[in-house]
Amino acid sequence: MTTSLSERLSAELSGLRESGLLIHPRVLDAANRARTSVDGKAVINLASNNYLGFADHPALKAKAESYLREWGAGAGAVRTIAGTLRIHEEFEEQLAHFKHTGSALVLQSGFTTNQGVLGTLLREGDLVVSDELNHASIIDGLRLAKATKKVFKHADIADLERVLQENPTDGLKLVVTDGVFSMDGDIAPLDKLVEVARKYGGVTYVDDAHGSGVLGEAGRGTVHHFGFEHADDVIQVGTLSKAWGVVGGYAAGHHDLRQLLINRARPYLFSTAQPPAVVGALSAALELVQSDPSFMERLWDNTKFFKAELERLGFDIMGSQTPITPVLFGETADAFAASRKLFEEGIFAVGLGFPTVPKGKARIRNIVTAEHTREDLEQALRAYEKVGKELGVI
Ligand SMILES: *Cc1c(COP(=O)(O)O)cnc(C)c1O
Repeated sequence: MTTSLSERLSAELSGLRESGLLIHPRVLDAANRARTSVDGKAVINLASNNYLGFADHPALKAKAESYLREWGAGAGAVRTIAGTLRIHEEFEEQLAHFKHTGSALVLQSGFTTNQGVLGTLLREGDLVVSDELNHASIIDGLRLAKATKKVFKHADIADLERVLQENPTDGLKLVVTDGVFSMDGDIAPLDKLVEVARKYGGVTYVDDAHGSGVLGEAGRGTVHHFGFEHADDVIQVGTLSKAWGVVGGYAAGHHDLRQLLINRARPYLFSTAQPPAVVGALSAALELVQSDPSFMERLWDNTKFFKAELERLGFDIMGSQTPITPVLFGETADAFAASRKLFEEGIFAVGLGFPTVPKGKARIRNIVTAEHTREDLEQALRAYEKVGKELGVI
């Protein structure tokens, strides 16, 4: 008998329910800010990716509104047919200039960017070597690539070199890494990764979703932080939805990269261009971070303060180097319990357990932003102290 849709849905959902993995997203009742309301409760928000506090910033909203009025609600077509507005091209020039790269192209999201670029660039006979902790969108992007796919141990240069040695090819060799890893907050050892990639004639591909707007001068990103922004053998992709506060993805690097993607990247060819308001807000975001250094300063001041105080209280922040601040609880049930208790104390911070992170390494992931005041962070620390003691972690 043919499976009915109801049977399929209920089988899938009961499987998730039984393994405790069924997701019920919390709902924000107001804009995504450092203090907001979630499921009817006033909270300090440590769960967002809104690093610079741009998601609800007046400067972004003002330019979004002006582009909306002048250019319309939608782009009207895919980029290659009739959807490329002057403002799309201007923003891409602004982005390439900001990143100091030979070219930049904007796509609908960071997720589709990985699909578009990896799916376009790699061919049969190529070798791609990917860090084991790379983001799901890289893994999905690589599913579209016909290249030989290998994984190296997280940030392990010797293991990367072993894989490159064991898999010789005349094709393109691509070493793929996140710039900043989203679960642990560690920075990829890009200097060493590029050195090894170069030794084997390879190219380095950095997904900088959590590094752009966070690392490098004025938030130019991980590639800039390590001084590779002018390198033609380093590709950077990323998102415009985390620190930049809106939505979108980009690929930047070699001056011919943009032209190839325009011709071949399937999300670019077959999915509609970004709406004008998004382009306006993003353009304002890049202007703001460069004209006002206080956003980056506050982000890093807050990061250093919060991390130091958590460690002083006795928490394990797992070696994080960035505003992503994991707090280790160990068992999945404990991390989830801590998240619930923190929520009762007015702190919104999400617990992550297996299979999102390894067994025994369940944690709460906090993201500090430029928008948090010292008072916000102090209140969060008091809640952490209380909950940590209740659960016996400190
Ligand atoms: C969030 C994230 C993405 C996806 O970006 P979106 O613009 O939200 O689609 C891709 N890669 C990494 C490493 C991310 O953290």
